[in-house]
Amino acid sequence: MKSSSAKAIICTVLSVSASVYAANVGSPFYGDPPDDHHAWCIHDRNRPQPTVVTPGTFSTLEQPGKPPSDAIVLFDGTDLSKWEADEGNGVPTKWIVKDGAMECVPKSGYIRTKDTLGDVQLHIEWAAPAKVQGDSQGRGNSGVFLMGLVEVQVLDNYNNPTYPDGFAGSVYSVNPPMANALQPPGQFQVYDIVFRRPIYKDGKQLDPGYLTVFENGVLVQDHTMLEGGTGHMGRSKPGPFPDAGPLKLQDHGNPVRFRNVWYRPLPRRAIEGGTDGYLTTEAATAKRAEIAAKLRQDAEKLKNESNPVPEILGLAESLVYENNSDASERLGQLAAQWWGEIQQLPADKLAAKKDEIKHMRDVAKYLVRAKVIPEDAEEFTTINDFVKEHNWDKK
Ligand code: MG
Repeated sequence: MKSSSAKAIICTVLSVSASVYAANVGSPFYGDPPDDHHAWCIHDRNRPQPTVVTPGTFSTLEQPGKPPSDAIVLFDGTDLSKWEADEGNGVPTKWIVKDGAMECVPKSGYIRTKDTLGDVQLHIEWAAPAKVQGDSQGRGNSGVFLMGLVEVQVLDNYNNPTYPDGFAGSVYSVNPPMANALQPPGQFQVYDIVFRRPIYKDGKQLDPGYLTVFENGVLVQDHTMLEGGTGHMGRSKPGPFPDAGPLKLQDHGNPVRFRNVWYRPLPRRAIEGGTDGYLTTEAATAKRAEIAAKLRQDAEKLKNESNPVPEILGLAESLVYENNSDASERLGQLAAQWWGEIQQLPADKLAAKKDEIKHMRDVAKYLVRAKVIPEDAEEFTTINDFVKEHNWDKK
């Protein structure tokens, strides 16, 4: 045998040992097990790792920042290829691009994205004209319409009072912003928006939808509950929403400019099939079954005539997520085989197996905790008594 392959085998054995005997973080038998509303254990190593995103940079007054690596850019200062006139069907907009910004041409109508957006993190920067004209709602007015239906107000409210539920950063006609954090007109203001649309099923509201808005880094909407789409003068009324719609920017007769527009689609909420958060029993059961099936497949690959331990651990782990009679039966057979071999060992060899036996006891104990086996199950009591008799829990 070449020394490199011998080294590889030793490394593999050591790493298997490390994972087999890890009694703390990293062990699958550690935090609270899945339950009727959670598909994952606490501190579950099977849970997918968060997606790696390279962060962008912040904007300055002089120049826009860089979007994060997974952002979908709608406007980078160069062209309006992602946009069209509000009538859709690719009709070109009359808005113009000037000095790295897109600018509303008054009376040309709203502009909208060709993309349709649902739940998003949206970044958008806007500037009211530097030359102050008009007052109240007539000064630097535009609007960011999520899905074309919910307006986050754009307005030059720098030294310009108006009705509070129509302020910059308001959910228009629904909720005033919690602060007025605007820069003077002419300077770019930064909106970072988290939009969760209302969700309906069979005409019944499952989630009203929410808006969170930061204005120049200051929180102005804190998970504000939606009441359907927004409108002028009329109170918003809850009602079914589509899954997605174009982002629209308002033509309110003022040449407001926009730059650095990008979004990141958000993951599904638990209520619509996401698997993080507080799930319905049906959703938790379905996800648990999926995880268990994968673990049973993995356990199959760990079959080893001379060492049943890895397969035992794989099967035991799968049972934490879902009961399965074949897996349970196979685990019983393997555990009996392993225990039989342990009992044949002479005292000196038994001592060398101390950590393995203790770990198997801990796994059995965890299976009791996860209600896979009852507290008085022989699989647990036998090995637990054995460890106690040998005083192996004492340091
Ligand atoms: Mg407006």
